[in-house]
Amino acid sequence: MTPTPPAQRDHTVSNSWSFSSELLEGYGMRSRARCVIARPRCAEEIAAVFALARAEGRTVGLRGAGCSYGDAALNGDQIVLDTSQMNRVLAWDAVRGEIIVEPGVTIAQLWQRTLSDGWWPAVVPGTMAVTVGGAAAANIHGKNNWRDGCFGDYIVAFDLMLPSGETITCSREHHRDLFHAAIGGFGLLGCFTALTLRLRHIHSGLVHVRQTAHESLAALLDTVECSAEEATMSDASAGEQTTHLVGWLDTAARGQRLGRGLVKLMRELAPGEDPHPQQTLDPSFQPPSSHIAGILPVEWVPALARPLATPWGTRLANRAQWWRGHLPGSGRPHYERYVTANFMLNFIPNFKRIYLPGGLIQHQTFAPALVAPHIFHETLERSQRAGIEPALAVLKKHRSSSFLLNYLPDGYSLALDYAAHPSREGAVEALLRDLNTFVAESGGTFFLAKDSTLTPKQFAQSMPAEALRQFQAIKARCDPGEQLQSDIYRRVIRPALLLALAR
Ligand SMILES: Cc1cc2nc3c(=O)[nH]c(=O)nc-3n(C[C@H](O)[C@H](O)[C@H](O)COP(=O)(O)OP(=O)(O)OC[C@H]3O[C@@H](n4cnc5c(N)ncnc54)[C@H](O)[C@@H]3O)c2cc1C
Repeated sequence: MTPTPPAQRDHTVSNSWSFSSELLEGYGMRSRARCVIARPRCAEEIAAVFALARAEGRTVGLRGAGCSYGDAALNGDQIVLDTSQMNRVLAWDAVRGEIIVEPGVTIAQLWQRTLSDGWWPAVVPGTMAVTVGGAAAANIHGKNNWRDGCFGDYIVAFDLMLPSGETITCSREHHRDLFHAAIGGFGLLGCFTALTLRLRHIHSGLVHVRQTAHESLAALLDTVECSAEEATMSDASAGEQTTHLVGWLDTAARGQRLGRGLVKLMRELAPGEDPHPQQTLDPSFQPPSSHIAGILPVEWVPALARPLATPWGTRLANRAQWWRGHLPGSGRPHYERYVTANFMLNFIPNFKRIYLPGGLIQHQTFAPALVAPHIFHETLERSQRAGIEPALAVLKKHRSSSFLLNYLPDGYSLALDYAAHPSREGAVEALLRDLNTFVAESGGTFFLAKDSTLTPKQFAQSMPAEALRQFQAIKARCDPGEQLQSDIYRRVIRPALLLALAR
């Protein structure tokens, strides 16, 4: 299937979009920039924005749903091309499980369209608000990354519009180098205008979930590793295969107990295991109740949970979660809906506002398996020594990818959410500078979609110099006028590319 069926290309440029000046922010509510924003509704309007920007000597930054935590989707004082209005499903083949979408289609729209046919997006992040264009540009990963790979692995082809207005259709067969550079290229080579995705066939709208508790980081990592090994053994039956793995760490635990936590193991149901697949695969079955425990309206949660972002609240919440994992029955296997198992936070409106004032910094470190225990141990310990315990710590298992700006190791990641209250903002920033240096020197990598604190040197150190040089060469070819830019490009990526060229 080619990305854009000819019939769908037949747009005329409408005058229904216009530019406006808006203050945009990253998901963490800390990176902000006033930008001139355009919301085109078709590829021709994107071309018109590029032409206008060129004529006026302005740069263009691309934006999907703005779910990147820092400045990846900001372009201060310049144009931001927001693709969220380009949100049509262009073609859906329910037999092959292939879909062609515009870039502004969200993960939520995707599953709502395909679930009743028995298909689910092969890779999903922790929120379903992200767009397919943003997911491709960041080459996102899910809890099944160790087993199924990353978002880019399920992209069959895409149309990429260069700043010149030329559209190139890329796949593993055609324009291979651009295919592997634009996925994970953070919108710096061109704008995706249509993408063909391969989905994952499922037999139920439920997943089987079980949870285990572990007294130390080493024990927790050991369980994740063994579960993954068991799941990939050739003689494991479909009903035994864990497909998704995620660890929660108690950030308040110290000493011998440092890194203790819970592991959630999920597996998709085998054919015939769900007696009512038609019911559970109905999209209307998926959203959870609007009340927690049948009583508390979800809208109340952010206000009630606000103390969790304070130092003592963080400690208390982590302790409570650890002990909750020990309540009788808490480890009992059960079934959960796909949507609640993957996107629970989407059902608590404005949850991130518990981090106001000050906002939230997420620090996600990726580390090869050999060095991960040392890096994560040290990261948690340094946070505790600085008196800044993360509110939330999430561990995932990964496998490397074939994309040019690859951040995924054969190993693990630890994502830490730090509340950056104005009273300790400086201390949090100093801690993160220290952690970045430590991680870069220890062989770890970083994910630009989450970043707001990296320096060019740290980023350059974490990536193969040859990959950065190749990316620079492709950018010079696709965007010779350096029209595609963003705040993170100017802050980190461009100077890192120059460092790599100088090496
Ligand atoms: C609560 C939460 C949980 C998350 N969990 C995960 C997770 O589990 N795994 C994970 O990998 N990530 C996760 N993320 C990060 C998120 O998946 C990425 O930041 C993703 O890129 C956001 O998509 P978006 O549509 O919001 O894009 P934006 O944030 O708006 O943009 C991201 C990048 O994509 C570029 N871009 C956007 N549209 C296009 C286009 N049409 N063509 C070319 N480039 C484009 C932008 O320039 C920018 O560089 C999470 C984020 C949140 C808020």
